[in-house]
This record gives sequence, structure tokens and C-alpha cells, in this order.
Amino acid sequence: MNFRNFKMVDYMVYGKGCFAQLDAILAPHRMPNAPIVFFLDHYFDGDNAMKARIPLRDNDVIISADVTHEPKTGYIDELADHIKSTLGTVSGIVGIGGGSTLDIAKAVSIMMTNPGKAQDYQGWDLVKNKAVYKVGIPTLSGTGAEVSRTTVLTGPTRKLGMNSDFTPFNQIVLDPELIANAPSHQRFYTGMDCFIHCVESLTGTYINQFSRSYGEKAQALCEEVFLHEDAWTAESDEKLMMASYAGGMSIAYSQVGVAHAISYGLSYLLGTKHGIGNCIVFNHLHEFYPQGVDIFHKMVDKHNIPTPQGICASLSDQDIETMMNVSLGLAPLWENALGTDWKNLMTADRLYSLYRKL
Ligand code: NAD
Ligand code: ZN
Repeated sequence: MNFRNFKMVDYMVYGKGCFAQLDAILAPHRMPNAPIVFFLDHYFDGDNAMKARIPLRDNDVIISADVTHEPKTGYIDELADHIKSTLGTVSGIVGIGGGSTLDIAKAVSIMMTNPGKAQDYQGWDLVKNKAVYKVGIPTLSGTGAEVSRTTVLTGPTRKLGMNSDFTPFNQIVLDPELIANAPSHQRFYTGMDCFIHCVESLTGTYINQFSRSYGEKAQALCEEVFLHEDAWTAESDEKLMMASYAGGMSIAYSQVGVAHAISYGLSYLLGTKHGIGNCIVFNHLHEFYPQGVDIFHKMVDKHNIPTPQGICASLSDQDIETMMNVSLGLAPLWENALGTDWKNLMTADRLYSLYRKL
């Protein structure tokens, strides 16, 4: 048996208001004549108070991260080329935002030191060189992107992460105050990503005590905030932030499953966002995750958040086939969900009819 030797985030600071320590955290990593680039989620474009809190020094720059669409490999190349040509060497890259902005920060820091294009590194362990120092600061919680060893990118032929030991952040700053103002729909969809990570991890064939310990706690926290509590409080933000972290740790040493495998196809073809896409799929996965889907339906009802239906109804068979190909390319997800015999269990006909239901 070959046990995976897992690379984790190097440093983590947690607590309400800890964002204020960013200047001191960055200071020892500053090199002469090498600025720090801050990717700030475009949600904060007009937010001067947020910008004023970013500890700019010397030639540091803030770049607005355009997350209208989930990050594409072409956008990563564009950003890395822009930074190389305008700033040369940088001391670090900081991502402040939702999962998309965190992934942009991870991917650009990899492309600062690796030749070729971002699409060349979509896959497992293809990145060759250490990335530049990178910091992740979530303003939404749920994806677990703050702890994962991947950065999910849509490329010319597939939606697939750069999974590597060079991908995790060197530092994360978990300040629950930063997620406090997220609108309830966005908070719910991103929060459900975490809930689904837990269900897929805990019921998968890759489960082990490391992943179970984190997954059970994360799922319990999701249920506390989305099912049992009647009002959203500052404590709920703290719980959701830790659920995201623990959910990410759970899948880090196991894997996600059917909802993710199918929703990757949706976002590849239709551009469906990850959180809502997972909800659209999970809604129909009772045969795979009966308990999890029942709880999900209760949370949807309690929060009165719509799960879109019929998004595949008017698609051509060719479109469905494109999504099936993306989905079936994610072998580890299927193997985790269904076991080593997954190819016989998830036949083309079965997957086709699952997509048609959505
Ligand atoms: P997101 O980053 O795509 O952001 C969704 C929207 O919320 C955007 O419009 C953004 O501008 C806005 N936003 C960000 N912070 C906000 C705040 N505080 N208040 C209000 N709006 C805010 O959403 P997400 O669900 O956090 O992330 C989804 C992305 O994460 C996808 O691109 C997905 O592929 C990726 N992902 C990555 C991993 C990983 O391990 N790397 C895991 C899961 C998902
Ligand atoms: Zn996810």
C-alpha cells in the first residue's frame, strides 16, 4: 500500500479581525524591488474601505480579479504575462475573494515560475517548479479552495484542476468578518458546496479516519448553520468558515463524488457556477446519497433558495455527450463514489439520463 504524503498549507491565521495582521505576515516575505500583487475579487471594485485595508507598500499593486466566469486557463496566462511584463519578479501573490479568486491567485503564482501555458498543467502532478509565495484570504466560505492542493480551471478541452504539491497556499488568513456581508443566496450555494463535499467524502470508498474526522465535523457545522439555527449571526460566519476548512481537509485525503463529477460537465458546457451547479445535480442524486439529499432538501426549504430545474432540457445529444466526456474523465471521483467497478455501474445510458433530468 502506498500512502499519500500530503502537502498542506504552510501557515494559517484564524479569528475575527485577523486580516489586520496581513502587513506583518507579508513583511518577512518581501524581497528588494519585488512587489506583492493583490488579486481582489471584483465584487470589491467600488469598495474603497476594503481597498484601504490592503497593506500596499512600494510598488505593490491591486488587480481586480474578474470572476464573472469561473477562471479559465487563458485568463490565467493573460494575468501572469501581464505581471511578468509590467512588474518582473514579484515577492508574492495574494488572493482576496471567493473560491474563484483564490484559484486565480494559486494558478497565477504557479505560472510565474513554470514555462508554457496554464492548460499544460491541468491534471495531476504536472507542475514542475515551486510557485511564488502565495496567500489566500477567503471572502466566501464553502469551497475549501483555501486548503486544497488544486486550482480548478476551465481550459480549451476540459475543466480540470492543477493538482500538485506546489498548488496549496503558503499562508491562509481566515477572518470570519470578511464573509459577513455575503448575500444569502451566494452564501447558501457556496455553503452547499461544503455540505456536498462532506457527504461525498463520508460516503465514498476512499473514506478513512483522517477524512471522516474532518468531514463529520464540517457536515455537523453546515447543518447547525443551515438547518438548526433560526437567525444568521457572527458565530454562524465563524462556523461556516471552519466548516469550509474542515470540509476541504476531508476531501483532501479522500475525494468528491457523483455531484461534482456531473456538475463539472455543466460548468464546462454551460458555464454553470460551481456552488449552484452542485445544488442542481445533488437535488437529483437520491439514489446515490439518500440521507444527504434529504437533509439538503430540508435546508433548501428552510432558506427558500431555488434550485434551478430543466437546464439541460433543450440541449442537443451532442451537448450532453460533451458533458459526459468531461464527467467521465474524472475517474478518481467516480471510483470514490462507486468503487473500482464504476465503469460498469455508471454506463453511458445511466449518465445520459442523469444529465437529462437536470
Ligand atoms: P466565486 O468565487 O465564484 O464568487 C461568486 C460570486 O460572489 C462572485 O460574483 C464574487 O464576486 C462574489 N463574492 C465574493 N465574495 C463576496 C462577498 N464577501 N460578498 C458578496 N459577494 C462576494 O464563488 P465560490 O462559490 O466561493 O467559488 C466557486 C469557485 O471555486 C469555482 O470557480 C470553483 O471551480 C472553485 N472551487 C475551487 C476548489 C478548489 O479546491 N480549488 C474547490 C471548489 C470550488
Ligand atoms: Zn466543490
